Amino acid sequence: MSVVQRKAMLKSQGFFPHKKNAKGTTIIYSRKHATAKFVRVVVDSGIGERSGKVVRNATVKLCFVNRTKSWREITAEVSTDNKGLVSLIRKVEDSEKFVKTCKHCKAKKFTAKTGNVVCSNACWTAWGGKKKSASTTKKSSQKIVAQKKAATPQKKKSQKVTPKSQRTYPANKTYKESSQKKRQKIVAEILPGDLVSVEEIELDKVTHDYTGSILGIVMKTDQFGKTYVNWTANTSSLPEWDMPFANHYQGGQKRHYRFKVLSRKAEWAVAT
Ligand SMILES: [Zn+2]
Repeated sequence: MSVVQRKAMLKSQGFFPHKKNAKGTTIIYSRKHATAKFVRVVVDSGIGERSGKVVRNATVKLCFVNRTKSWREITAEVSTDNKGLVSLIRKVEDSEKFVKTCKHCKAKKFTAKTGNVVCSNACWTAWGGKKKSASTTKKSSQKIVAQKKAATPQKKKSQKVTPKSQRTYPANKTYKESSQKKRQKIVAEILPGDLVSVEEIELDKVTHDYTGSILGIVMKTDQFGKTYVNWTANTSSLPEWDMPFANHYQGGQKRHYRFKVLSRKAEWAVAT
């Protein structure tokens, strides 16, 4: 397998060699995607940096260059010999259109280490926040820009509460508290300006506290209890779609995420 041939192919396809390969000892090549902004076609040439010899097949993948200039792998790496190289580059390049796009910032999504498919920009950590301008950056946590993202629509309450006296329970089974809580609406007072984090709730017990890894500022609340938050930090793996968006929820859920107010005392309680 000729090194000269492989290098010539890559050159003819518009690829340039990188100076370094942070993860291995072969020469990496890349070029811009033909149509998709911030997407690069990346080829591991399989040519040893030191030896200058072909040590294995070449591999092709797509990466998205995010706001912080980190490269996120948005497709799996596929390998080929010299014969298949040019056509594989084309196929991988075409596969760009199947990669999901973040609906908030239009970045490509990638599979994080946690297994979640998330935005390459991790934009949920700065929803509504504009790009930091290098000179005016002060505290990283205080971007006061109203969150424009429309939260998931609230589900309508459909369950009616049966008075306790009219409920029937199986004769020999212990009455489970959670089946009662299921029907309850749990509320907390969440106000604009509140500094909030997130709590994970399972069957009405706090199972995880995200204080220290998720931080946001409440921008607005409406008459339905919808709460708009400017999330300024999220170093957890909690995806954007699990973030809380209301000052209330139905008790007894298997897993749920609710606000935790950090800046003052605000407790969750059954609605009266
Ligand atoms: Zn995004």
